[in-house]
Amino acid sequence: MRSFWLLFTLIILSNKLVYSQTPPSHSSSDIYQALQKLNFLGSALYVAAHPDDENTRLISYLSNEIKANTAYLSLTRGDGGQNLIGPELRELLGVLRTEELLAARRIDGGKQFFTRANDFGYSKHPNETLEVWNKDEVLSDIIWVIRTFKPDVIINRFDHRSPGTTHGHHTSSAMLSVSAFDMAGNAAHYPEQLNKTSIWQPSRLFFNTSWWFYGSEERFKSADKSNMLQVDVGTYYPLSGLSNNEIAALASSQHLCQGFGRLRTRGSEMEYLELLKGEMPSKESDIFEGINTTWSRVEGGDAVGKILYDLEQNFNFKDPSTHLPQLLEAHSALKNIKDDHWRNIKLKELEEIILSVSGLFLEATASEASSYQGGKITVSIEALNRSNSDIVLKSIAMPNQPSIAKNIPLKENKKELIEIGLPISNEAPITNPYWLNEKWDLGMYQVKDQDLIGKPETPAAININFDLEFNGYPVRIVKPLVYRYSRPDKGEIYQPFSILPKATASFKDKVIIFADSQPKEIAISVKAHKDHIEGKVQLQLGKGWQVDQESKPFKISNKGDQQIVRFLLSPPTTKSESYITPIIHLDGKEVSKELVEIDYDHIPKQSVLLPAEAKVVRLNIIKNGNKIGYIRGAGDEIPSSLQQIGYDVSIIDPASIRSQSLQHYDAIVVGIRAYNVVEELKFKQRFLLEYVRNGGNLIIQYNTADRQVTSMENLAPYPLTLSRNRVTDEESDVEILDKNHPIVNYPNKITQEDFKGWVQERGLYFPGQWSKEFTPILSMWDKDESPLKGSLLVAPYGEGYYVYTGLSFFRELPAGVPGAYRLFTNMLSLKQEKSKK
Ligand SMILES: [Zn+2]
Repeated sequence: MRSFWLLFTLIILSNKLVYSQTPPSHSSSDIYQALQKLNFLGSALYVAAHPDDENTRLISYLSNEIKANTAYLSLTRGDGGQNLIGPELRELLGVLRTEELLAARRIDGGKQFFTRANDFGYSKHPNETLEVWNKDEVLSDIIWVIRTFKPDVIINRFDHRSPGTTHGHHTSSAMLSVSAFDMAGNAAHYPEQLNKTSIWQPSRLFFNTSWWFYGSEERFKSADKSNMLQVDVGTYYPLSGLSNNEIAALASSQHLCQGFGRLRTRGSEMEYLELLKGEMPSKESDIFEGINTTWSRVEGGDAVGKILYDLEQNFNFKDPSTHLPQLLEAHSALKNIKDDHWRNIKLKELEEIILSVSGLFLEATASEASSYQGGKITVSIEALNRSNSDIVLKSIAMPNQPSIAKNIPLKENKKELIEIGLPISNEAPITNPYWLNEKWDLGMYQVKDQDLIGKPETPAAININFDLEFNGYPVRIVKPLVYRYSRPDKGEIYQPFSILPKATASFKDKVIIFADSQPKEIAISVKAHKDHIEGKVQLQLGKGWQVDQESKPFKISNKGDQQIVRFLLSPPTTKSESYITPIIHLDGKEVSKELVEIDYDHIPKQSVLLPAEAKVVRLNIIKNGNKIGYIRGAGDEIPSSLQQIGYDVSIIDPASIRSQSLQHYDAIVVGIRAYNVVEELKFKQRFLLEYVRNGGNLIIQYNTADRQVTSMENLAPYPLTLSRNRVTDEESDVEILDKNHPIVNYPNKITQEDFKGWVQERGLYFPGQWSKEFTPILSMWDKDESPLKGSLLVAPYGEGYYVYTGLSFFRELPAGVPGAYRLFTNMLSLKQEKSKK
């Protein structure tokens, strides 16, 4: 079904391509709309915190109805969220969401910007957010985007006046946007930026409010709206056969990894813009009232406008190529205007229109999807003039190569195919998302090159310049080098061409846990990105860790193949946390990167190079019991974490649970949100409780209170009420309430040390109330909040134990947090503790 929609989108929005690399095909109505946009000289910037925060209805309206140069500035790339469609998390999820945003913008017509801020996870308050982010750097990036994009109007998604009512990132985005609005026009702020750009003062700042910010539709209805502009974003566009809100839904349905696939809506829909700064436009007008958005805005622009307004008035839909002479005349006039901001934007738009009206197909494809420094590829060029215009391909220029003179007249509908060998320079940059090239921290990505900051993605690895003459008038067109192939089950596919290291290495497991001194076999997969590579791999180790051999050889014949190299790794005798890194020695160079490919239908394929490292942990741990039954919930990696420390873990199919069928397990663990997603548990809960009654040990991890498959009364043997309580600071204080309880003593003595080094958060959806049978074990609290005691509750029931915990073991165990393993092992050992008495 998905491919149907993609195809559908491709047809109806032929100028808004699904694959960014697919060559554009522009119908007359697309060209006409591009011309309308060319004749509008105004810009609007929408500001929020995450991919999916943006209001695509408004972005599409600004871009397609008002025709404004429109952009969305998302402060983060959404690295901290969850992924509905695949395994990418954290920085890889950030790459996927970046591409989903770009896919959305290709549909709604907006541009996309980011700051260096990292989406580090949930924060309750902007104070916390702005402590983790480098506030000064994020503000600098917002001001940089304002000074380079030069919006007349800025629209915030969130309210800067209500900290604590939504995600701290949200409120921070609005607060920083308000500050940036005041600062971007003042040369005293971030003066170093002014070597590359100029100051800019936007005219208006709005807050895109809605009933949600008022608590209810009723309250919003009666709210004072004298300071609000109301915009009907339900416009129908006959030129594309779509309503604005339909385009918006298609755009936001690109956010597939966050489950944003949605129905389309049509008809009148209102958006509300509360004025925060600048002059209020009159109610009948639009957000650009009083701002000159015509060609007379720029010095020398009238001459361009005279030609282009006339062209728009008298557009020839049957044969747009008749407009080529006027377009070239406009190009010549536009080249001479002084305002380089609008000149650059409008030249690019105009050149695209010149190509489109001529039906000129121009493409450079690589013979292979990737190459390497010092490699060589063949570039195939296809040039085809599909009009009777006079076009000559004068020359082609490739990076670091002398320009190749061609002087080929492009005759109507006669395809020219040219093949050129292109050596890849030894200094050519390796292709990678630019923000992942330097080591990043929790709050910020590190980017040194100011020109890259704000950009959604790394510019193309190789650009090809085509020097053309239209009616004897020279125009240079730049095209990225792409790779094109077909798949029987998908059709034609384009992907970016990339330059990779000659070889990369990866571990099967990113975290390897040693519960004792036994050595473990570590498998490293070496992947070749060129034919015939031969070298050796070395394993870089931390103090106390040892391998059986210092380095091991590899030899791979074919590009794309892998070879597994195995080391035997011995841990230290005492507890230790360290990292191991494979170093590939090849042709006198060292590489220690892992290649991860992100490949989905709705985005161009991405190659991401990450540091190839694995965390190794030698635990100081005592284990008891062995046979663990695991009932999967919404998906977590706890079973493999428990296997790593030697437990015998069986996955239990809930359908197979019967009376007495569980008695042989030392403990049964229920995965996260199982009572939200596993329908079958509604019928099996009584057997789980029977298991406890007969001496079993049941551990239930977090669930949310809404959408439970079983009623709250059946969740536990005694009354227990779930809440939305969470502790988001992974370093927050923890107090052990019941120091004598077996769960903090047997077999491992739990101390403050065990709560160090946790990741992302302490826990979530803690029970808010419980009956006296439960013993709360821990108390924890976020800064300036009252202590929460529901993170770990234990109750004896019959002969056994019932444990309910909202602690984020599903994050801590896969991350190799020693204290979390020790506490989890104690939970698993409650049955043994009881029987030892
Ligand atoms: Zn958000």
